[in-house]
Amino acid sequence: GMVLRRRKVVLVTGASSGIGRATALRLASAGHPVVLGARRVDRLGSLVTEIEGAGGQALAVPTDVTDLASTQAFADAATARFGRIDVVVANAGVMPLSPLSSGLVEQWDQMIDVNVRGLLHSIAATLPTMLAQGAGHFVTMASIGAHSVTPTGAVYCGTKYAARAITEGLRLESPRGIRVTTISPGVTESELASTITDATAAAAMEAYRADSVSADAIARAVEYAVAERPDVDVNEIVVRPAAQR
Ligand code: NDP
Repeated sequence: GMVLRRRKVVLVTGASSGIGRATALRLASAGHPVVLGARRVDRLGSLVTEIEGAGGQALAVPTDVTDLASTQAFADAATARFGRIDVVVANAGVMPLSPLSSGLVEQWDQMIDVNVRGLLHSIAATLPTMLAQGAGHFVTMASIGAHSVTPTGAVYCGTKYAARAITEGLRLESPRGIRVTTISPGVTESELASTITDATAAAAMEAYRADSVSADAIARAVEYAVAERPDVDVNEIVVRPAAQR
């Protein structure tokens, strides 16, 4: 028989560019209301305009995931406007790569703050609602750097191993109504490399990023996991450019 797909309220952190933006656009065009969190409010505003112009529903909420109160306000804005939280795409991340010998401790701290503490804040801000609903879906944007370590990526990969471990822990602890997906992209078109200040890492990245998939390729992976039947939990997806080894 015909299957009616329920509209899901989808929260996306880091929705102002790259993978988060593409995910918001794709899920909104599939009919899901989307709640967009990031620091660059101007970007979120134009994304809302774009989604609403195409007949979708979107809400922009200025959000800094390194701040628990800000992340909680993001979650609260979602329930105030749409009444529930069905999917959280914990996607916000930064990648200022450098060798440990660079001593760029502030950048290491920033990666830990956004990629690890930001993920934990996103869980803390939304898990009580999902537990009360008896249903929900966490989608964590990890990386192929969560599966193996590369030079200049010690800290970044460390944060992504942590993200994958935390997401697996959430899966093991959660009741059956709550689904958990970790997505590990390979090289993907986005602004992610823009925060690299270390010359060694920047040079290595330029060659490494020659082959990439579009941000929408990762958005399609999110859409697949979200659209699966409620009794099916897609736990891990790795997506690489076909040319990447
Ligand atoms: P972008 O740099 O294009 O997007 C990163 C997003 O994170 C932006 O929307 C940015 O918004 C947001 N962000 C950064 N800091 C914060 C913060 N403190 N609070 C809220 N939002 C924040 O990169 P991608 O789209 O590539 O990155 C998305 C995710 O995908 C990241 O977790 C990244 O590690 C992961 N990934 C990307 C790969 C790639 O090759 N592109 C490969 C593997 C994983 P704003 O600055 O407005 O706050």
